[in-house]
Amino acid sequence: MDGSAQAQTSGEAAATTLDVVIVGAGFAGMYMLHRMRGLGYSARVFEAGDGVGGTWYWNRYPGARVDIESQEYSYSFSEELEREWKWTERYASQPELLRYANHVADRFDLRRDIQFETRVTSAVFDEATSRWTVKTSRGDVVSARFCVMATGCLSVTKDADFEGAGAFKGKTYHTGHWPHEGVDFTGQRVAVIGTGSSAIQSIPQIAKQAAHLTVFQRTPNFSLPAHNAPIAQSTVESWLANREANRQAQRESGFGSIMMSGEERSALEVSDEERRRIYEECWAKGGFTVIGAFSDLLTSKEANDTASDFVREKIRGLVNDPAVAEKLLPWNHPIVTKRPCVDTGYFQTYNRDNVSLVDLSETPIETITAKGIKTSAQDYAFDAIVFAIGFDAMTGALGKIDIRGRGGLALKDKWADGPRTYLGLTMAGFPNMFIVTGPGSPSVLSNMVVAIEQHVDWITGCMAYLAERQAGVIEATEAAENDWVAHVNEVADTTLYPLANSWYMGANVPGKPRVFMPYIGGFSTYREKCIEVAAKDYEGFELTRA
Ligand code: FAD
Ligand code: NAP
Repeated sequence: MDGSAQAQTSGEAAATTLDVVIVGAGFAGMYMLHRMRGLGYSARVFEAGDGVGGTWYWNRYPGARVDIESQEYSYSFSEELEREWKWTERYASQPELLRYANHVADRFDLRRDIQFETRVTSAVFDEATSRWTVKTSRGDVVSARFCVMATGCLSVTKDADFEGAGAFKGKTYHTGHWPHEGVDFTGQRVAVIGTGSSAIQSIPQIAKQAAHLTVFQRTPNFSLPAHNAPIAQSTVESWLANREANRQAQRESGFGSIMMSGEERSALEVSDEERRRIYEECWAKGGFTVIGAFSDLLTSKEANDTASDFVREKIRGLVNDPAVAEKLLPWNHPIVTKRPCVDTGYFQTYNRDNVSLVDLSETPIETITAKGIKTSAQDYAFDAIVFAIGFDAMTGALGKIDIRGRGGLALKDKWADGPRTYLGLTMAGFPNMFIVTGPGSPSVLSNMVVAIEQHVDWITGCMAYLAERQAGVIEATEAAENDWVAHVNEVADTTLYPLANSWYMGANVPGKPRVFMPYIGGFSTYREKCIEVAAKDYEGFELTRA
């Protein structure tokens, strides 16, 4: 095992020698660090932000909150942690989630091995030594045996590269890197561009402050009511009383969440009345329950139509002006094929006198101007523009690091036609590098904290196995990677997902290859596969002594 020593490399810079470099201090990086300490490995986390929490550090826009129930969206690895932390709301808000992340960092004394405000710029594999040389924006040079990319699936915001961007004289904000001190929109004319989850959460809050809010919608989205509320003491007690069983049920579920696990029945095998009763019941429960109502909403267009129609009907009922309601109806994608949203009063916000909707499918944005936004129909003047335009998802953060594997192969070249991984965890040609919730794993199609824990545990188990076998290096074979990529695509093609222009498909970023990136075979199926691979002495990998 390496100490955390300084060693001179051939260049001028002194390289620190470590067992493991971890990139990112969100929920993935923090837990990875904790597990590395458990193995007795020297590890350092590099984090671009000045605090822990990742997503919940950066996305401080008004209304930001989790859309999976708080106790489900939390670490399970420490029973003590779980018993001492008290969630206050059914869906925790961003400030509460950030407090939780900070509490975890303090409780497990993580900060002493996290270097903040430091961006990893390159990671290069040296075949002679079988080590990674990692460099940072602050001039650090680290030689590490393992490199773990905990860089996040939704951590690189999309650029607001509209025609005329930069001309606007007012204030601009992106939901994905919101000012820490908050923003007061009181008395202002505000524009929000986008109607994804971030917009749908922030619009009702911004509307309460702004003099006038104009929403620029390119694609209307399905959104389901959260019915957020303080957590009842009885819910907390019941969750903790059944903690082990609940956690196991999450791991054995399709989406890593009990709340999202639903009926085994087809939507088409029940009567219209029964189906409606079930959808109404789910709608009243709130959250994602509607989309878990039947087993075939993801695979049968006919079944999906029943859910899509149900939600469209609800939207019509929530919006007073029928013309506005029509514009808000999602029409070009089946429900779930773009990430569904969970809201608090989103559609009702359009009933306010100070809110208006611009449908960009009718009147597209032509340019940002000094005063505001010009569409093909009119000029709008604003004091502030909020870009709720999303992320370069799943591959964005890795694409920003110069990662080079065997033979100097650049990851961006390997992934030129779309990401290729074995299990979403590793890549052929990139030995001893792991990705937490990478493309090709369920990641964003599951409760991410459960997916993160499963990946970190698997990586830790893999490292322990290498130590036991006195193997220095592990690398996915090309054959295993090819088979896995084929399987990921094959499963995606049995679903309705490829029908939508979603960020899952890379369709939101111009020029990005259109490939369905996450694995939709189900979290539990995937987890079983990972367990099986490990049990078969890491089938699909080559181990060498280094
Ligand atoms: P992140 O939290 O994204 O952390 C990655 C960290 O890596 C970041 O802090 C980033 O600064 C750092 N980093 C990246 N590149 C570098 C680099 N080169 N050098 C140094 N540091 C770097 N998931 C759910 O399951 N349920 C939800 O309700 C949910 N809500 C969400 C709401 C929002 C607004 C967003 C954006 C995402 C949401 N997600 C949700 C997904 C969320 O990203 C995950 O749940 C989870 O927080 C991811 O944790 P992570 O540690 O993998 O990544
Ligand atoms: P998003 O889902 O990608 O939504 C971006 C929105 O901006 C879309 O409506 C998109 O329209 C629009 N847009 C993008 N570029 C545009 C352009 N050039 N012109 C006009 N409109 C443009 O991003 P997000 O809302 O930030 O959410 C990303 C993901 O983060 C979510 O899907 C979810 O996984 C997670 N998230 C979760 C929560 C939560 O509830 N817990 C909250 C926020 C985020 P098109 O649809 O036409 O591309």
